[in-house]
Amino acid sequence: MTYVFGPVSSRRLGQSLGVDLLPSKSCTWNCLYCQLGKTKSFVTERQEFFSREEILEEIRQALTLNTNLDWVTFVGSGETLLYKGIGWLIAETKKLTTVPVAVITNGSLLYLQEVREELLQADAVLPSLNAGSEALHNKIDRPASGLTFQQHIEGLAAFRSQYKGRLWIEVMLLGGINDSDEALYDLASVLKEINPDMVHLVLPTRPAPEQQVQLPSDERLERAIAILSEAATVVNPLKGNMDLRKAPDLLEAVTAIVSRHPVQQRELQKAVADCFPDGSAKADEVVQQIFATARFKLVEHNGEPYWVMRTA
Ligand code: SF4
Repeated sequence: MTYVFGPVSSRRLGQSLGVDLLPSKSCTWNCLYCQLGKTKSFVTERQEFFSREEILEEIRQALTLNTNLDWVTFVGSGETLLYKGIGWLIAETKKLTTVPVAVITNGSLLYLQEVREELLQADAVLPSLNAGSEALHNKIDRPASGLTFQQHIEGLAAFRSQYKGRLWIEVMLLGGINDSDEALYDLASVLKEINPDMVHLVLPTRPAPEQQVQLPSDERLERAIAILSEAATVVNPLKGNMDLRKAPDLLEAVTAIVSRHPVQQRELQKAVADCFPDGSAKADEVVQQIFATARFKLVEHNGEPYWVMRTA
C-alpha cells in the first residue's frame, strides 16, 4: 500500500491505522526534533497531492484486513493539513467504519477558516504546541516565513471554539530547551487560553536526523506535568508496540513504518517475532532478510539502536 500503513500501537491511540497524505517531506515547519530530517523547502500551499479516491480505496482495503482497530489516524510525512480535501476523506472514511478518526497535525494552518471546517467531523485532533512564547516557538518549530506564533495560538483557540470533538494538544518536551520553569509557565498560560480537552506530553525518544535532541530529566518531566496540569489534564504517554501480525507483506509493512519514523530495533524484533509464535529462528531470518535489502540503516539515540531509512 502507498498511503496506508500499520497498524501501529500507542498508549494514546491503541491500535491505529495510519494514513499518510503527503509526499515526504512537505511541511510548514522545520522542527528541531523532526524524525523526517530537515525541511529542505517549506510547503505552505494546500494541495491535493495524491488522488483522494486512490487514498480512500486503500483505506477501504485496509479496513477489511484489520478488524481490530481503535483509530484511523491521518498523519503525514510533514504537515497533514496541507492536504486539501482531508475533510472529504474524513467524511468518506466515517461512512466506511465506526472506528473513530484522528488527525495529527502541527496546527499551523488552523488560522484558516477553510482548514478548521475540514476538520469538524474528526473524532480527535492532535495539534502541536511546543512553546508559550514567540522566541521559543521560532527556536523549536522554525516555521516558514509568514507563519507567526500569534497566528498559531489564534488558530488553535478559534478551532477550539468551533470544534466539538476531542482536542488533544501535543507538547514535545525537549531537555534543556522548553523544560525550564519559565518556559513551562508560559506554555501553561497559553494552554489556559486554548482550553484543550487534554495535553499529551511527548518526549524525543526517537532519533532526529538533523541534530541531537535530549530527553528531559525525570525531575524536569515531573515538573512539566505539575505545571501544565494547572492548565489541562496531562497525559504522559508510554510508547506502544508495532503489530505486524496482519501484514500481508512484512517487508512492505516495515518499510511503510520506518519511512515515516525511526523504529527501535528491539521493538521491530519483537513485532516480527510475534508474527512467528512457533519459531524465533524464522523471525531472526526474516529480520535479516528485511535489513539485507539495504533500504535501512542503524543509528543510535539515547543509547538505543534504531532503524531509519537510508537516504540516497
Ligand atoms: S511539524 Fe512534524 S513533520 Fe513538520 S518539521 Fe515538525 S515534526 Fe517534522
